[in-house]
Amino acid sequence: TKEQGKNDFQIFTQEMMEKANETFSLQRDLNRALVNNEFELYYQPKISAKDGQICGAEALIRWNHPNLGMIPPNDFIHLAEESGMIVPIGDWVYQEACRQLRRWKEAGKEQIKISVNFSTLQFLQKDLVKRVASFLEENDIEGKWIEIEITESILVHSDQELLNKVIELKKIGIQIALDDFGKGYSSLDYLRKYGFNTIKLDRSFISDIDTNEESAAIASFMIALGKKLNINIVAEGVERKEQLAVLKKLECDELQGYLFSKPVRIAEFEKLWM
Ligand code: C2E
Ligand code: CA
Ligand code: CA
Ligand code: CA
Repeated sequence: TKEQGKNDFQIFTQEMMEKANETFSLQRDLNRALVNNEFELYYQPKISAKDGQICGAEALIRWNHPNLGMIPPNDFIHLAEESGMIVPIGDWVYQEACRQLRRWKEAGKEQIKISVNFSTLQFLQKDLVKRVASFLEENDIEGKWIEIEITESILVHSDQELLNKVIELKKIGIQIALDDFGKGYSSLDYLRKYGFNTIKLDRSFISDIDTNEESAAIASFMIALGKKLNINIVAEGVERKEQLAVLKKLECDELQGYLFSKPVRIAEFEKLWM
């Protein structure tokens, strides 16, 4: 009723008003951030558990906001997803990773695999594979140096078209990783269906892998399964050496986390790597 509506409106407090305004202005700023060149990729090393060497990097976006300073992705990716801006932003992330590979190649440096995160909306683009492929070609980059990380939230709306895109991307050499495994529904059926190259075990159960038997048992199972199915297993969010000891014992393939390095600027990443 009208009366009810009036009451509802009163619950809309000053605080909520400010929050809404904040969101609105961030949303608006986000539309300009690309042309203003305010995004930057940070790189977090992936470590091979066997030899302790850096074997890859995950590219993670940062927004250098002119007034607010550095804004982490958790504070703006959802806004970009709501407005659709994630599509051009995601393109930029992928293209920037390709340009980085090209810079290394032109400098005569070794290449290293760069992983980029893709949102659901990006995967819904009809011409995704074509554009991904053409940018590889433009930069004279082999697909095998790029890995695309996707989360299960994409797979829930799973359809043949999505599966075809994954197959096509793999055909051009691009690797596909399943991110945040163990956080959502984590259906084993996905593993059979999509042929992932990599599975990233979510930080939430790596965090207590040294104290919680259930967490350790699941990790152990996933690592063994990975060996059988020839899937690379990466542990995310490794912060302590006790976790590292367990993961090494279980023969996890790759490790990522603050114990080794936080995500850093490209110059710093190169120092760590070279
Ligand atoms: P994610 O893909 O799961 O990335 C890993 C996040 O965990 C990163 O946060 C990383 O800095 C953080 N992390 C790494 N090691 C540790 C650790 O040992 N301890 C803790 N506590 N955290 C650790 P970040 O960079 O803030 O990114 C957050 C999320 O934002 C990402 O989670 C990803 O979902 C999203 N994101 C980041 N960059 C992009 C992008 O370019 N495109 C899209 N679509 N999403 C992105
Ligand atoms: Ca990721
Ligand atoms: Ca993750
Ligand atoms: Ca995530």
